[in-house]
Amino acid sequence: MDGAATPDKVRAHQPSIPETEPEHKRQRLPLGPLKTVHVFWLAGMSCDGCSIAVTGATNPGIEGLLLGVVPAMPKVLLHHPVLAVESGEAFVKWFKDGADGKLGDPYVLVFEGSVADERIAQRTGGYFSAMGVEMMDGENGEETHPVPTATWLHRLAPGAAATIAIGTCATWGGVPAAEGNPTGSMSVMDSLGKDYRSAFGLPVINIPGCAPIGDNFTETVFAILLFLQGLGPLPAFDELGRPAWLFNQTVHQGCTRAGYYEEGTFAHEYGDPECLVEIGCWGPVVQCNIVKRGAINHMGGCMEAGGVCIGCTMPGFPDKFSPFYKPPPGAIISTSMSRGVGAVIRRLRRLSMREGNRETRWDVLKAVPSGWGHVQGRTLLDVVNPFFLREVAAHGIAASGSQAGRSGALLGRRSSRSRGGVPRRERWTRGDAWWRCRKGRGTRAESA
Ligand code: SF4
Repeated sequence: MDGAATPDKVRAHQPSIPETEPEHKRQRLPLGPLKTVHVFWLAGMSCDGCSIAVTGATNPGIEGLLLGVVPAMPKVLLHHPVLAVESGEAFVKWFKDGADGKLGDPYVLVFEGSVADERIAQRTGGYFSAMGVEMMDGENGEETHPVPTATWLHRLAPGAAATIAIGTCATWGGVPAAEGNPTGSMSVMDSLGKDYRSAFGLPVINIPGCAPIGDNFTETVFAILLFLQGLGPLPAFDELGRPAWLFNQTVHQGCTRAGYYEEGTFAHEYGDPECLVEIGCWGPVVQCNIVKRGAINHMGGCMEAGGVCIGCTMPGFPDKFSPFYKPPPGAIISTSMSRGVGAVIRRLRRLSMREGNRETRWDVLKAVPSGWGHVQGRTLLDVVNPFFLREVAAHGIAASGSQAGRSGALLGRRSSRSRGGVPRRERWTRGDAWWRCRKGRGTRAESA
């Protein structure tokens, strides 16, 4: 290190992230059929976990794409720094040809890891993340210098059919951009700016997760390739560029432990089978499909494996979800409420379950021919509970749902809201109709 170098002196003129917005080269790309599509994979401030996740994808897997055997799909030529057969200049040449517009085929750009601010590293003549070298004018004449992956991103993104940020570091900055952030790391979206559009007019497509679900990535790439082939519509993305069909629900909504939450039973320590919210699970507010889809080949996933959700798919991760493994703020309110309601619901359900576990014939015989041991006889509650539920169902009250306007119908009250353009004073609710039928004061048809 040159002690005379001032902190802001950029040594050797390595290409850095442009300080101003790059001028995007807009191209018109042909809609399918495409025979070949290049995929350029760049890694910034990354642990390579996204690469591992994608190689583990099974539904769909990447093998079919690489072999070009998936019907209606173009053959994919993947240029990946770890998986490529070529190395050195032969490997980097493809990237140069892509940036110079000499490929002849469209390409998709994939970025893994966050984008470091290379100007910080340049102050001491270094770099944070680079691939390949270039000859540049340096202090001692022409020198070779590593080319930051951030520079490759800015060179390749404008001509790409689509730019995909994979993993939370690339989509939102992630761990390298956490508080302190000595490398000035940021997301691909932040680095390219809000005016960025690919050659097909798409903003950055974001597939978050730390590590992301490999199948989420391959499924999205398939959908984009179908679109590029002219065989499918542009997939739906949400306001943050996430595939909408994969990230529109919370972890909690698909969690296999959500039934415990609803019944108000919670784990006290890891290994317990109940809901994990009291030991730090953020699932109720985190958009992710990990439990529904599983980590690999529909197996595993955080809560399935006993881990809490720490919000790794969210733009606020990790700072806004720290400290990990502590109950999220507000959890005390929701868990107290579900404890109260759940205590009642749970007991009623056990009664119904016990009743459902008996053959009708056993009730008549008043004996259960099980060789497994003693089966408890029916109590008065066991008899009354199903009778009560059948009565409720018979009068359609159970089917009346939970809408606020209908809940009043259970008690024969008038709805408090106008519905379907009918003023509330002129409208009888379902409960009114039921009540009047019972009293012989009218019919459902009259009161409808
Ligand atoms: Fe919801 Fe987490 Fe509990 Fe699952 S473990 S039910 S995601 S709070």
